[in-house]
Amino acid sequence: MLRLIAVLAAVLLAACATTPMQAPGGPPVILVSIDGFRPDYLDRGVTPVLSGLAAAGVRAAMRPSFPSKTFPNHYALVTGLRPDRNGIVENTFEDPRWPGETFRMSNRKAVQDRRWWDEGEPIWVTAERAGIVTAPAFWPGAEAPIQGVRPRHFLVFDMATPNEVRVDRLLALLDLPAPERPRFLTLYFDTVDTAGHDFGPDSPELNDAVGKVDAQIGRLVEGLEARRTPANLIVVADHGMAQLSPDRTLYMDDHLPGDAYRYLTRGAFMTIYPAPGREHEVASALLKAHDHFRCWAKADIPAPYHYGKNPRAAPFFCQPDTGWTLTTRDYKPSEPELGSHGFDPYSPEMAAVFVANGPAFRPGVTLPTFDNVSVYPLLARLLRVKPEPNDGKPDDLQTALTR
Ligand code: AMP
Ligand code: ZN
Ligand code: ZN
Repeated sequence: MLRLIAVLAAVLLAACATTPMQAPGGPPVILVSIDGFRPDYLDRGVTPVLSGLAAAGVRAAMRPSFPSKTFPNHYALVTGLRPDRNGIVENTFEDPRWPGETFRMSNRKAVQDRRWWDEGEPIWVTAERAGIVTAPAFWPGAEAPIQGVRPRHFLVFDMATPNEVRVDRLLALLDLPAPERPRFLTLYFDTVDTAGHDFGPDSPELNDAVGKVDAQIGRLVEGLEARRTPANLIVVADHGMAQLSPDRTLYMDDHLPGDAYRYLTRGAFMTIYPAPGREHEVASALLKAHDHFRCWAKADIPAPYHYGKNPRAAPFFCQPDTGWTLTTRDYKPSEPELGSHGFDPYSPEMAAVFVANGPAFRPGVTLPTFDNVSVYPLLARLLRVKPEPNDGKPDDLQTALTR
């Protein structure tokens, strides 16, 4: 613990000093995503580093954008646009302009195809255009030449890359000679999300994964301190995680025959595409009161979700109560899932962590819950680039900043 306090104190000290390693244009901005990390994980006694960074900096619970899945929310964080505007409307979706094509996270060709991403301008594109070197490693979208601009440094996503290697790669980028050294970098950890799905948010396995990621953030902090590199470190998650139970399973088969529709996603929600000629049947079966789930035609999704105008949004969206699974009887997973997300972004279980620490941030600030799109204007401000039009509110984070 003493060593940790010493490390944190050293980071703060480094943050206040002007050192030879300071990048031209200001300290590097490091955006870390811990997939599926809920804010309450900081209070379980397993995160000495992150809790220390939060205590000496800024902490908040962030509301994810609808739907509370990985790709839409990672893109919302770096574009400031909600998924309905940034074009990444789901992890799995289609565009009526390109029949027969489906965007999937696991489809490398799709992930690298700028057509899916071009509705938004991620912060690294704006920064590169302004002459700032960026390294959005493993961030969704970073592999595509969005709007024709590639980040100077990027990596093809490989889930098998150990967390330690991810940290070492980031630190190595900071050792590059000045013209190559990035001033905007990202780091991504998926192991907390995976443990949440496999074992649930309240399991010992989840706490173990959280502690291991925390230790890697500790290595990052130590690496920055060793390089005397003051940095603005922002740790976020894309969404939270809710406990599931086999007793809380709902079957679409009880409401619609299988040949009346197809779906792209099941579980924490279902996206429903009626079969040709079956539209009325699907609408009348779905758009009535149901126990533990509700469906909307895309045009009628409630306003607080800011969703449904994009042609890529599915014709019908069905959302179960948080912690319930909406599925079909023929779907038989090899292992039962014990945790999931994709539920109502306003439910507490879907909240995502936000921690910020560095020269730009005041110590000991706890912010009220804010929408994740407000991270984008913060990034633009720290990088001193003009933000593109966006859905974020700069005032959400104003009180967290030193100036
Ligand atoms: P989700 O269940 O929505 O939280 O998705 C989490 C999964 O997204 C991770 O386990 C990864 O397999 C995948 N993923 C995250 N980042 C990327 C990326 N940049 N490219 C491809 N897949 C990714
Ligand atoms: Zn995720
Ligand atoms: Zn997940």
